[in-house]
Amino acid sequence: MNHLVVLGDQLTDQVGPLRTRLDGSAKFADPILIMEITGVRHEARHVQAVVLQIAALRGFAAELQGRGAPIEVIQAPTLGEALAAAHERYRPTGITLMDPAQPQDLEAIQAWSAASSTPVEVVENQLWLTTVAEWEAFKSGRKELRMEYWYRRVRSARGWLMEESAGKSEPIGGTWNLDKENRKRLAPGTDVPTPPYAAVTPLVQSVIDEVLKESSTLFGESTTLIWPTTRREALAALNAFCDDRLANFGPYEDAMSKEHEHLFHSLLSPALNLGLITPAEVCERALQTYAARSSEIPLSSIEGFIRQILGWREFMRHAYREYWREWQTDNGLNAHEELPELYWSGETKMACMSRIVKTLQRTGHVHHIERLMVLGNFALLFGVQPQQVDAWFLEAFVDALPWVVTPNVVAMSQFADLGRITSKPYICGGAYISRMGDDCKSCFYNPTESVGETACPFTTMYWEFIDRHSARFAKNPRMATQVRSWSARPAGVRKEILVRAADVRSRAKAGDL
Ligand SMILES: Cc1cc2nc3c(=O)[nH]c(=O)nc-3n(C[C@H](O)[C@H](O)[C@H](O)COP(=O)(O)OP(=O)(O)OC[C@H]3O[C@@H](n4cnc5c(N)ncnc54)[C@H](O)[C@@H]3O)c2cc1C
Ligand code: SF4
Repeated sequence: MNHLVVLGDQLTDQVGPLRTRLDGSAKFADPILIMEITGVRHEARHVQAVVLQIAALRGFAAELQGRGAPIEVIQAPTLGEALAAAHERYRPTGITLMDPAQPQDLEAIQAWSAASSTPVEVVENQLWLTTVAEWEAFKSGRKELRMEYWYRRVRSARGWLMEESAGKSEPIGGTWNLDKENRKRLAPGTDVPTPPYAAVTPLVQSVIDEVLKESSTLFGESTTLIWPTTRREALAALNAFCDDRLANFGPYEDAMSKEHEHLFHSLLSPALNLGLITPAEVCERALQTYAARSSEIPLSSIEGFIRQILGWREFMRHAYREYWREWQTDNGLNAHEELPELYWSGETKMACMSRIVKTLQRTGHVHHIERLMVLGNFALLFGVQPQQVDAWFLEAFVDALPWVVTPNVVAMSQFADLGRITSKPYICGGAYISRMGDDCKSCFYNPTESVGETACPFTTMYWEFIDRHSARFAKNPRMATQVRSWSARPAGVRKEILVRAADVRSRAKAGDL
């Protein structure tokens, strides 16, 4: 009989073989093996990501043991070593596990299987909403992989937010994607409910102490941990989001605020990525909330939220399986700069960057637009080597795992693959950041200026980026207007901007931006 193996980001008894083992409908050899990979404490990660991973795993194991389940936590520096230790102890005739999110983990398992002559049964990972077969069918015959078409297909297959119209199944409201309605700026005085913050339990505190004792160089602070480490806390976070914040999620999805750092976002990514809650239950709870309160919750909120999870999250997971090897080296824009030190210290006169990096140190989290249009955008405009940007995102966030970081960073944010999954680089100058947030008001720089001492570095570097890549983007239908607008400027003006851009570069490198 096979032993059941549970990986550290599969902490669920709601779905998959662990559920069937616990409800008696499937049999596995005792004990159930949960893999705690200790090497994570010595990787370049946010201290809260490491604590969360260990505390959630140990809490999960203890909870199952409390219910009488035969659980053994196997600790080892790597997955390969954990499997070898399990083999040494139990000589399993075979193992069963859910398909790992990281293909690299599957490779390690297969290598161990071959070396130890132990058969491995890999079953569908039900922590995802969609299956590998669905992706293969979507991919078949397509020249380009785009989230929008994936989203329409998988949403239609589930009948979510769909209605019958003239005998056909159509998206409610007649539009698949209400992204254009997700761009409201937060007006001063808007009521933003505070989300519930998870308490630091004795278990979490003991893990913090253990991690700090072993690794003193991890990024970020450990005293400000607010993230769920148990299923109960994750469900409380989900309920609070649906009750208090879902209604405003859509309109303010892209807004930024100094006062309200979480705005109306769900803050569910760390719990989802560990398996503490499933994307199916998150979407179903949100859809039920919408059904019960549709007069009060705009369609743009529920559609936007479902698109993030069923659309983007699932799309990125499958795209990673597809391209993870290429993304390890892709650098189509020939970007070779070093990441400026301000990404670690937050020490800069740029108010937006400083606030965001300091928030990251404290919480390990900022929301999507801050990741894409501030942090990622500046690195792209600056021309930082994309794998270095990838490594930094993996280090600085509490919800970071390679399957989700790399597609979002190397492909989406840095456009290093020249469009495997997106059609243009996500870039902006200070005007966009000023329109969507309130950082510029108190900044040393001025978002409307592109030359001079107080010119916003985003605005200057935006035009320098267009100049640097004008030949490439002149033919891109979504970039050609900017290229034409740059070329139409008088040569003297362009020169002045490029001189200022060189100044921005040297100041960033000298730590004086
Ligand atoms: C450069 C960059 C780096 C990112 N790094 C990470 C990361 O390390 N870990 C991570 O989980 N997400 C990452 N994302 C995606 C997204 O920004 C976060 O999932 C989101 O900000 C998490 O906060 P939330 O739970 O409040 O999300 P909400 O805004 O409430 O969205 C709901 C859920 O949708 C999912 N989601 C939304 N957008 C994406 C996306 N582009 N890719 C995958 N899932 C998505 C998440 O699970 C999220 O919890 C990154 C995006 C960018 C542009
Ligand atoms: S002026 Fe520029 S650097 Fe300053 S906050 Fe605005 S966008 Fe950021």
